[in-house]
Amino acid sequence: MVLPLARRALLAAALGSAGRPRLPRHHAPAAAAAAARPSSGAGGQPDTEGPGRATAMLRHLLLKMRATGPVTVAEYMREALTNPGQGYYTRGGGIGESGDFVTSPEISQVFGELIGIWYISEWIAAGKPKAFQLVELGPGRGTLTDDILRVFNQLASLLSKCDVSIHLVEVSPKLSKIQALMLTGGKAQSNPEDKSAYMKGISKTGIPISWYRDIQDVPPGYSFYLAHEFFDALPIHKFQRTEKGWREVLVDVDPDVPDQLRFVLSPSSTPATENFIQPEETRDHVEVCPEAGVIIQRLACRIENDGGAALIADYGHDGTKTDTFRGFRNHKLHHVLRAPGTADLTADVDFSYLRKMTQGRTATLGPIKQREFLKNMGIDLRLQVLLQNSCDTATHEQLHHSYDMLMNPKKMGDCFNFFALLPHHRLVHPDREHKPESKSPLPPVAGFNELLLKILWGFGH
Ligand code: SAH
Repeated sequence: MVLPLARRALLAAALGSAGRPRLPRHHAPAAAAAAARPSSGAGGQPDTEGPGRATAMLRHLLLKMRATGPVTVAEYMREALTNPGQGYYTRGGGIGESGDFVTSPEISQVFGELIGIWYISEWIAAGKPKAFQLVELGPGRGTLTDDILRVFNQLASLLSKCDVSIHLVEVSPKLSKIQALMLTGGKAQSNPEDKSAYMKGISKTGIPISWYRDIQDVPPGYSFYLAHEFFDALPIHKFQRTEKGWREVLVDVDPDVPDQLRFVLSPSSTPATENFIQPEETRDHVEVCPEAGVIIQRLACRIENDGGAALIADYGHDGTKTDTFRGFRNHKLHHVLRAPGTADLTADVDFSYLRKMTQGRTATLGPIKQREFLKNMGIDLRLQVLLQNSCDTATHEQLHHSYDMLMNPKKMGDCFNFFALLPHHRLVHPDREHKPESKSPLPPVAGFNELLLKILWGFGH
């Protein structure tokens, strides 16, 4: 593909000369194909019980279920991941090679750099507003924002008149400390007086950073939102079609095996069955993530009112898949009901549901595959520059390896998708119908526009 000149220039300025080859931070092991966490049912391989604290989490769940009966899968997932005492993420999560799963920003710096370019390109297309907030949901170890901030720093002269601030939405106190160390070098302070931002700091390049527990606490204003492998960690409800109609899948104590959990079906329909299953549904098993719907609604309202854009990257489907709930521990599939709190639990994101929940307040683009998005963003050009700047064979090998991890359709290239929310006027001139001839063309949306071109070519041939 020939990269449009403007984006080529932006890439060169943002990354080019200063883009010294750097080793991928976490050389992804072969099992990191698991990072793509490809497919599996709710089962996976049964695992041994986890360390003591997980046993405490299991005991807590068993006590609860013995007292009040089975819980929804959503409640189970919320407890296992973000319980304030023993949740998987509360305890720090296992992101990275030494942990349970590895994510794209942890594989290569290029990933975050290209996302940084995406925001700058949208900022330019919006007429360079005087200020913007970059809001990341679920920042993990802070690596993605760190790579984006390096791009912003490279483009400091372009951004010199723009007031940039970073806002991180993170529930895990342990991960927020890791993020603060990564982004501020440890210069962040907890902020007990402020009811919304629980921690504040200044980035290594002088940009203010605030931490929140909820997107609602982030101040209003022109904002760019980012959610990478965030929505897949939000609790899902699961439903099964039966002869008697839809039933919700619940988690209960297994009466036959001591201290073990099992899936059961609700004896009758639940409020969730009534609310979340569409009459026209054709699948026999459906997963719904209402929390994702609420968050998308909030993002869409904020973009509609204050402007900006959202970029969401995750593995997922467009309302077609059925049973995608699975667990990961030590880069291997892990039975979702074993040793809760010691494994990552995740479910594919239903992009059709996210699109629906914007309620038409914003335009949506995608989902498109990660390899297409990164190709459109110029990953090949970036790889060439990094290869040219190094004559070290080991670095070359690692650059090729991390490129392959991100782009190979069998690894992360095909199963991860990019999806964007943009104000309607970004894609359609508001008064196009009246004076079509007087309009300058709208700048294409980076990353997604090659797809649009392909569609046009498809029609042409
Ligand atoms: N974006 C990072 C990390 C993904 S893991 C990466 O790609 O490497 C999921 C992240 O979301 C973790 O930081 C976890 O603590 C956070 N998280 C999970 N549930 C959350 C919730 N309900 N609210 C805010 N953050 C949450």
